[in-house]
Amino acid sequence: MTRLSDLVESGVADEGVALGPLTTYKFGGPARWFVGADDADTVVVAIDAALADGMPYLVVGRGSNLVISDLGFDGLVIRLGGALSDASIDAEGVVSAGAAMPLPMLARMCSKQGRGGLEFLVAVPGSVGGAVRMNAGCHGSETGDWLLNIEVYRPGVGRISVDRSEMEMTYRHNSLPAGDIVLSACFRTEPRPARQSEEVMRAITQWRKENQPGGTFNAGSVFKNPTGMSAGRLIDSAGLKGHKVGGAQVSRRHANFFEADPGARAQDVHDLVWDVRIRVARATGVELEPEIRFAGDFAEFGEGQMPGRDIGKREPVREGD
Ligand SMILES: Cc1cc2nc3c(=O)[nH]c(=O)nc-3n(C[C@H](O)[C@H](O)[C@H](O)COP(=O)(O)OP(=O)(O)OC[C@H]3O[C@@H](n4cnc5c(N)ncnc54)[C@H](O)[C@@H]3O)c2cc1C
Repeated sequence: MTRLSDLVESGVADEGVALGPLTTYKFGGPARWFVGADDADTVVVAIDAALADGMPYLVVGRGSNLVISDLGFDGLVIRLGGALSDASIDAEGVVSAGAAMPLPMLARMCSKQGRGGLEFLVAVPGSVGGAVRMNAGCHGSETGDWLLNIEVYRPGVGRISVDRSEMEMTYRHNSLPAGDIVLSACFRTEPRPARQSEEVMRAITQWRKENQPGGTFNAGSVFKNPTGMSAGRLIDSAGLKGHKVGGAQVSRRHANFFEADPGARAQDVHDLVWDVRIRVARATGVELEPEIRFAGDFAEFGEGQMPGRDIGKREPVREGD
């Protein structure tokens, strides 16, 4: 049975690797073990080794929806790359993409080849794997609308294909088991002249520039929009634009984006999230649900302050859950 120490010895895994550079927030402590996996076999070996050692694991895509603890992640962090970043389109317009493929590149590749539908992904700075896990979406489309099937590594089962119909994909949610690692995905597309696709992407990119902060030192929308409501408007209506905790601040451009100053800590963003949650609940009666994911351990914040219940006690997110 291969253990993590064997992988370190053979050079497949490293210890104490800084995770900040792998996320858009740019902060967070080190991974106890780290594997950069360039193919599916390495994913399988690394995950099996973590399980053999009884260690939790976390898959990091482009880190654009993640807040990793200042203490780091006490387990295995795996980041996909190499051959898992490849993508191609067949004659029927079916796109096959590795889980590490960056979404904006995928959108532009389709456009160049006269295929439309995935233009919305130009605005989402994540990977295919992260988009499948999060059911990423914007501008009227979601990943699940275009997904045909995926290949996952399901520990204890193996590499399996999962059809779109077997996954419940709702707003920023996918029912895939928490421990599944997405290896690749197939999407349908529609024929569309490249110029038309480019125009759609240009309009989306322009809208983003005008209405949201840029792609670093934040992780996109912090909270999910409650049904029929905008999380950003609720935060704004509670008077919280510009509200700060430590080095983290509610964006003045878009209240559902929380920006980090240089030198800010992950704990600052964590505390701001819970502080805003409490304040919005008090002001509006609506309890916002975080869309961003926390990985590793954080000090509790706001225990007992949420109207109606204690939000301070919860489990840290592990295993890409
Ligand atoms: C400026 C900005 C704008 C954004 N705009 C949008 C938007 O319009 N719409 C939207 O939906 N999101 C948006 N986001 C959030 C983010 O880009 C998406 O959620 C994206 O899908 C995350 O992909 P990722 O590769 O970065 O995932 P990560 O942040 O690395 O991970 C997110 C979660 O997915 C899991 N995961 C990642 N890869 C895999 C894999 N291969 N297998 C299994 N689990 C995996 C992780 O473990 C984690 O739980 C934005 C973020 C930023 C910074």
